[in-house]
Amino acid sequence: MTATSWIEGAEDGPFGLGHLPYGVFSTAKDPAPRLGVRIGDQILDLRGLATGQFFLPWIRPAFHEHDLNGFMAMGPPAWRLVRHQLTELLSDARYRDQSATLLVPAAKARMHLPFQVADYVDFYASEHHATNLGRLFRPDAEPLLPNWKHLPVGYHGRAGTVVPSGTPIVRPRGQGKTPDGPIEFGPSARLDIEAEVGFVVGVGTELGAPVNPDDFAEHVFGVVLVNDWSARDIQAWEYVPLGPFLGKSFATSVGHWVTPLDALAGAKAAAPAQDPEPLGYLKETERFAYDLSMSVRWNGTEVSRPPFAGMYWTPAQMLAHMTVNGASLRTGDLFASGTVSGPEADQRGSFLELTWSGREPIVLGEGETRSFLEDGDTVTIGATARGADGGTIGLGEVTGTILPALD
Ligand code: CA
Repeated sequence: MTATSWIEGAEDGPFGLGHLPYGVFSTAKDPAPRLGVRIGDQILDLRGLATGQFFLPWIRPAFHEHDLNGFMAMGPPAWRLVRHQLTELLSDARYRDQSATLLVPAAKARMHLPFQVADYVDFYASEHHATNLGRLFRPDAEPLLPNWKHLPVGYHGRAGTVVPSGTPIVRPRGQGKTPDGPIEFGPSARLDIEAEVGFVVGVGTELGAPVNPDDFAEHVFGVVLVNDWSARDIQAWEYVPLGPFLGKSFATSVGHWVTPLDALAGAKAAAPAQDPEPLGYLKETERFAYDLSMSVRWNGTEVSRPPFAGMYWTPAQMLAHMTVNGASLRTGDLFASGTVSGPEADQRGSFLELTWSGREPIVLGEGETRSFLEDGDTVTIGATARGADGGTIGLGEVTGTILPALD
């Protein structure tokens, strides 16, 4: 595909014709949230297009909803058809005049959570991250627990606290304990991020029917960047034996724009070889990763560049594992990769790892140093990937600013 868009400048930025991510927006003039597709610095109003009878009659109702769930539930035939039609509309200048009233500058739009989150599952799929955390939390033991290379370790998070990028994050309060100190209650002093990639389920399943990893693209609609905010002091005290709870559940931020899987066709790459060989239900006919180059900015200073392609467990294996017991999928399920960390020190996706538990502070702009998040700090996670047409696309960023804890 070599088509370009008639939207000025679209091909020079992260949202060219080869991307076309979906989101939910409103404007001051029309405060009802509605669906849109991003092109350059503009949003094309899909509700307006559906009202103008642009789409086939069976697809139109999905674009009169207030979130992406109806469209996502329609499955790959509808996803492909709409993407094809939008590509045609945005590349053929004959549509320019009739579409002009349906374009809204992104800078003037208010963005909402793009989909209603059904269930939220968070994995732990980076070998480098799991090894680093093992060394930090259990310094006297093997860093990887015995199950780690046999299954993608995960847990169920709190769907109701998944928030759109830009939502302020109030510093959580909770119990904590220093190694020999007393148990105390108060604001977290070790507030952290986790740079992750999230996968959004479109097509659900019946209870009892596992999903084969080869059917990944039949169920998963697209990808969002995720920041899984984490209070390390609360987490360290509470996590044995049932895993993360209040140290994670206060907020998880997702990007405004859901990148459809088709837009990442050019970003497919070889996934790491696995040893030992996984069990049959985790075996993929064509094992692949998505080569996303991530970036983490702390108050504007880039502090890390995690590489997503090196994750030990692939998204298809995560999907197969979370359904192998017969657990059903619902439209709007979100499963995230877990912190993306690479082998190098400047590729770590959490501050816990980057500062080695606070022992090696990071220098930000103007000589300020940080170990964990302070009130007023802003963290922004971005990612780029090779687009299907050979250009570069940029996933919708996820950002958040820390507010002081409640009294
Ligand atoms: Ca996480």
